[in-house]
Amino acid sequence: MAKTKKKVLDSYTIKGTKQTVKVGDCILMRAHDSDKPPYVAKLEKIEEGSKSNVRVRVRWYYRPEDSIGGRRQFHGSKELFLSDHFDEQSADTIEGKCTVHTFRNYTKLDSVGNDDYFCRFEYKAASGSFSPDRVAVYCKCEMPYNPDDLMVQCDACKDWFHPECLKMSSKAVKKLDHYFCPDCATTRKSRGKEASSPHKAKVEPPAKRRRR
Ligand SMILES: [Zn+2]
Ligand SMILES: [Zn+2]
Repeated sequence: MAKTKKKVLDSYTIKGTKQTVKVGDCILMRAHDSDKPPYVAKLEKIEEGSKSNVRVRVRWYYRPEDSIGGRRQFHGSKELFLSDHFDEQSADTIEGKCTVHTFRNYTKLDSVGNDDYFCRFEYKAASGSFSPDRVAVYCKCEMPYNPDDLMVQCDACKDWFHPECLKMSSKAVKKLDHYFCPDCATTRKSRGKEASSPHKAKVEPPAKRRRR
């Protein structure tokens, strides 16, 4: 039997739409279970086989709940992990395009759309391990930053805090112009006169290292 020739394509127009996806784009793919949200993947290759049957090679993004460790408190609702899990799928299952932002860019978005996600970890599907395997922690609770949660920054040590960990309401925190965490407030007081200068004055950062 003659081998069917495959043609590599640069782009593919999603069935029933005018939307075109290209290699390198992040795409949404229909889940087998229609109750479930679509799968997210990075489009690696598009190939047209016989009878215009288009197949795509994808690299899956995992949602926290699909990872071995499951969803943790600091995982954002739009968080994804770039996995080492590749697959071949029919292009028919592509539903649309989406954007997977870097963590930094995601936190700078003015508004988060339906198709905005972010990724700060790579994930090894077989072992369940993450890269990087360390992440900065903040607040008294020493948790990594969840961009869904409101946090307030201490003007002195520059650490970030959850209102609930400070026994403050979100409303009260939003009204603050300046905030000094309990540790820094104590340091300021013990410095006496110099530290009791008006809040507007620039405060020297204390020796405490800024955690990044
Ligand atoms: Zn906290
Ligand atoms: Zn502080």
